Amino acid sequence: MKACYPGTFDPITKGHLDIIERAGRMFDEVVVLIMRNPSKKCLFSEEERKEMIEAAVKDLDGTITVMIGTGLTVDYARSIGASAIVRGIRAVSDYEYELLQATANMYLNDRIETMLLIARPEYSFLSSSVVKEIGINRGDISGMVPPAILDQVAEKLAELSES
Ligand code: ADP
Repeated sequence: MKACYPGTFDPITKGHLDIIERAGRMFDEVVVLIMRNPSKKCLFSEEERKEMIEAAVKDLDGTITVMIGTGLTVDYARSIGASAIVRGIRAVSDYEYELLQATANMYLNDRIETMLLIARPEYSFLSSSVVKEIGINRGDISGMVPPAILDQVAEKLAELSES
């Protein structure tokens, strides 16, 4: 069974990586899907985000691939043969948003199930925005992003704090 894990991943955090690892234990294949969203202004390009996710998941068990998707998530999921959409929940505020998305996706295609995984407590505060905010202000982000991409993320954020 194949699942996809759609998101923005700007950049991937240890919280995302934990969800990928746990989904990898449940499904034969997990496709991490960077969904193109023109209305969201991202710090890293799609290609940079794809390369960072690939570097971060390199040592995980299971079959994990990374793709860049466009259009509706359910349509993209169906086109790659995924029967589940995995998302993460950190707090009640995430739940409200995720419930709405999952219900809309069910309306569009009820053959694709959404699975909501609860964030590990140590990562429940963690988001790409928090990483950016802390990194731009020269705070320590080493516990927040996968080690494989730490230098790249820290460098980009340090550049921003100088400009
Ligand atoms: P999006 O813009 O689609 O919300 P994100 O990259 O911010 O994309 O998040 C992708 C998914 O990962 C979302 O379901 C989000 O709730 C989940 N997520 C983000 N951070 C964490 C975390 N620290 N722990 C668990 N899930 C998370």
